[in-house]
Amino acid sequence: MGRQTNESLGYGCAYTPLVMLRAAGYDPYRVLPLTDSHDQAGLHLHDNLCPHVKKILDRAMGNDLPVLAGMIFMNSCDAMRRLPDAWRKVREGDRTVLVDLPVIADESAVRFFAGELRRLAGVLGEWSGSPVSDDRVKECIQEHNRLADTLSGLASKVNAGAYKGGRNTLQKAYAVAATKPLPEAIRYAEDVLSSGLKEKLSGSLPAVFLFGNILPDTEAFALFEASGARIVDEDLCTGSRLIQPVRIEDGEDLYTGLSRAILGRISCARTFNHARPGEIAQTVVERARACDAKGVIFHTAKFCDPYLARLPSIRETLRKEGIPILVLEGDCTTRSIGQHRTRIEAFIEMLG
Ligand code: SF4
Repeated sequence: MGRQTNESLGYGCAYTPLVMLRAAGYDPYRVLPLTDSHDQAGLHLHDNLCPHVKKILDRAMGNDLPVLAGMIFMNSCDAMRRLPDAWRKVREGDRTVLVDLPVIADESAVRFFAGELRRLAGVLGEWSGSPVSDDRVKECIQEHNRLADTLSGLASKVNAGAYKGGRNTLQKAYAVAATKPLPEAIRYAEDVLSSGLKEKLSGSLPAVFLFGNILPDTEAFALFEASGARIVDEDLCTGSRLIQPVRIEDGEDLYTGLSRAILGRISCARTFNHARPGEIAQTVVERARACDAKGVIFHTAKFCDPYLARLPSIRETLRKEGIPILVLEGDCTTRSIGQHRTRIEAFIEMLG
């Protein structure tokens, strides 16, 4: 067992190598864009910048954070690249590190990112006062996979079962997994899986596949349900994409394997497959077909270039396949989903 610091490290991106934070003895704490803090990030970041990133900065400026031993930033998109600069201005004494994340996932990218992970291990070892050992990283991968597998079992049950409140129960489990120590997150997910989710929804509502980036608020899912949408699967950075299993081939170098697993996970729109440029649109079709969805709701944070740039090709591919799509842009608040309620209801009625 490695040294446990009982301290938390903040992070903001689903690509963060959580197993390494844990191997260094820290509890990863995702700074979700949920806050009552004043809207102040505009003092440092442009108005037309991703609201996800701005709300994270609002939390930093409004001291709406637990005690953090440091902050891990991923260079995942342009907005995320701006965040550490602004963070260092508003919280001068904080320890921070920025990890470069390749936009592609070929062998050279895997090698490059493995180097970044080794560099991160060195930084975390300095912060914690003891080196991050390979053995501890391997133990943490196993524990992490137990959580990932439990959440995946819970998601399968919710996707298949149409349980009353099931989608927001699952979202709560994701939020616990993102912000609480691992044993608590595993316990929570296992308890819900074994004892929760009993009451089935009555009647048959049209099945919808939800796709996009940032939608962490459980109330948003209650609102979808209240609008008549039965979400039968989703692909969100704050949902099923948050905690993905890490599988490493026997005999592969630990950091190369970890790099390959992280870059090879179900990708966010910021990652690009140059061998298959339209891959993301094709994946949306395949996922929608696999869960028998009658339509797709595409929900993105406003001003998110990676997602909005892919939208025309996603829209066109779905049109050719005869799958209706509803596009919603939000600012990471439930209020913004609430404003779309009439459009969601009209879309569901059209599917029905
Ligand atoms: S929502 Fe888009 S712009 Fe914002 S952090 Fe994620 S990928 Fe970047």
